[in-house]
Amino acid sequence: MIYHVVSVSGGKDSAATLLLALERCPRENVIPIFCDTGNEHAEVYKYLAYLEQALDITIRHLKADFSEQIASKRRFIANDQRTRREYETVPVFDAEGNPVPKRDGRGRVVMHKVRRDGVMLDEPVQKTKKIGGGRKVRWTNKAKRRALAILYPTGNPFLDLCMWKGRFPSRKAQFCTEELKRNMAVSFQIDLIDHGHKVVSWQGVRRDESQNRKHAKKIERIGPSLFAFRPLVEWTAMQVFDYCGRNGLHPNPLYKQGMGRVGCMPCINVGKDELVQISVRFPGHLEEKARWEGVVSQASKRGFSTFFNKELHDDNKADRRVHEANRVEAVIEWANTGRGGRQMTFFADFIEPTACASSYGLCG
Ligand code: SF4
Repeated sequence: MIYHVVSVSGGKDSAATLLLALERCPRENVIPIFCDTGNEHAEVYKYLAYLEQALDITIRHLKADFSEQIASKRRFIANDQRTRREYETVPVFDAEGNPVPKRDGRGRVVMHKVRRDGVMLDEPVQKTKKIGGGRKVRWTNKAKRRALAILYPTGNPFLDLCMWKGRFPSRKAQFCTEELKRNMAVSFQIDLIDHGHKVVSWQGVRRDESQNRKHAKKIERIGPSLFAFRPLVEWTAMQVFDYCGRNGLHPNPLYKQGMGRVGCMPCINVGKDELVQISVRFPGHLEEKARWEGVVSQASKRGFSTFFNKELHDDNKADRRVHEANRVEAVIEWANTGRGGRQMTFFADFIEPTACASSYGLCG
């Protein structure tokens, strides 16, 4: 049997993708899935229920569970007796400014494989040297007591993931997408393949969405029985709205409330304007993230971690001053300031919480 697994997020692109799948494939072979991050707006759940009813189909909710990882982290923290330190390193250059190669114990240059222009080459590894005094790898007894008092699964995948990792994700370490969405969807699909089926993974990706997606392929063979199909790669956002509208499907109401995209509420990468909208319209979500900061900080070895990592401090090392500048309250204040981040704009005062602020002109 060929199953068409459609990843549904509550946004317009995945709704259009689901519509297309139902139009083109036998209904009994279409399986819509929703990977619940636990950081969703209530409107997303309502919209999924609306889709189920409007399209007469059941959407399967997949939710990651990190109870085992948290239990094993508790054991690790309780047992941790390491004494070494971890250092920042910088690359070493000779007097002419050429990279100095790293050598092993016998004086031989250490090589590694790198891909250049699609060709795998052997290149020397550059020597590095330690800088600064380093930081303790070991959990201090104080940090152990603090973390062990709070490290219990809450049942919320996003929060549990961050407690397990001891930090929030960031643009450079975006493990949330991987752990909460991609891994869940892939495990579901692999399970079907293990039961002897073929799987086509329908994804509502558009090339004009972002740089990362600029070269998205329409069809991709991922494995012997697994294919990715992205029917919207050449569509624009307006085409997607039009297509849904022609088929009698309403867009998620969040689009009419200033949200450029429907996903986590908020996403760790949220932009300044959208954050202002969220702080006015859905302040409860930001208050919740501020509470999460307290919990994840308590579960972290350093004792602090912030939901946003906006590089709002000149010194970008992970220390307490940077942490203070990135706290949810501080980031909201920053979002409400004008150019240069110094002058309050009072912009937020003029946003009526019920007014339409859709960036797609939906309420035209
Ligand atoms: S929407 Fe943002 S916060 Fe949510 S999983 Fe994706 S990157 Fe992470």
